Amino acid sequence: MTNPFDLTGKVAIVTGANTGIGQAIALSLAQAGADIAAVGRTPALETVQKARALGRRAEIVSADLSSIEPVQRVVDETIATLGGLHILVNNAGIIRRADSVDFTEADWDAVIDTNLKVLFFLSQAAGRHMIAQGHGKIINIASLLSFQGGVRVPSYTASKSGVAGLTKLLANEWAAKGVNVNAIAPGYIATNNTAALQADETRNRQIQERIPAGRWGDASDIGGAAVFLASSAANYIHGHTLAVDGGWLAR
Ligand code: NDP
Repeated sequence: MTNPFDLTGKVAIVTGANTGIGQAIALSLAQAGADIAAVGRTPALETVQKARALGRRAEIVSADLSSIEPVQRVVDETIATLGGLHILVNNAGIIRRADSVDFTEADWDAVIDTNLKVLFFLSQAAGRHMIAQGHGKIINIASLLSFQGGVRVPSYTASKSGVAGLTKLLANEWAAKGVNVNAIAPGYIATNNTAALQADETRNRQIQERIPAGRWGDASDIGGAAVFLASSAANYIHGHTLAVDGGWLAR
């Protein structure tokens, strides 16, 4: 019997693959057999070296994803260097914090552009290729703030709610064309992004007490979910946002 989680022969783009959740996803996909295009503005040297050590082909694709300017080149370069494109993981993301009464247009635009606009147009560029070949998997990284309001992060909440909505819309349009579009909503995951929260003893304790699993998530927890959604085991899952949150939303 073939292993439904085997990704041998698949090529995956992972954005923001140099660190944190993106790096863990890239290495989990590589572990499952996929070749990796590690996309971002900081070269993902360590990620590419580790993927190659697993026996995979892996290439750095340099791109600043604060605008849609490089999205078609990212897809073209991946196909040219790795010979195809089967999986896209839209992971790159930023956050800006301020009270809504003080929030600036610059912080609104920066977050919406990277987290939502680039995610859509990179999905469009990859989706055209996937539709033409009759199959593909797109995995968007959402957030608990796709479901909850949060405070002091208006553009982030708008962007991540938008990610969950776009995931459903693209699934509606592309499911019959063989392309699965889904999302993962990570809970509190220990990365650079959350370093300040982890370092704050009181907040750290409050967070752990609020999480039914009683601990922060590890980036590899998200990697496992990405392998599942990228695999043939998830062929009949479309438009879903999967919370990987230690039970946070169950509370
Ligand atoms: P990190 O800050 O550790 O990583 C963010 C990644 O996005 C980095 O690789 C970063 O590259 C990349 N990135 C940001 N802006 C750009 C840009 N303009 N062009 C190219 N790459 C860019 O965060 P996490 O690993 O924690 O987060 C990854 C994703 O998961 C994000 O979408 C985040 O919103 C989401 N998430 C994280 C949670 C957590 O608890 N950690 C919870 C819920 C969602 P560079 O290093 O060059 O800046």
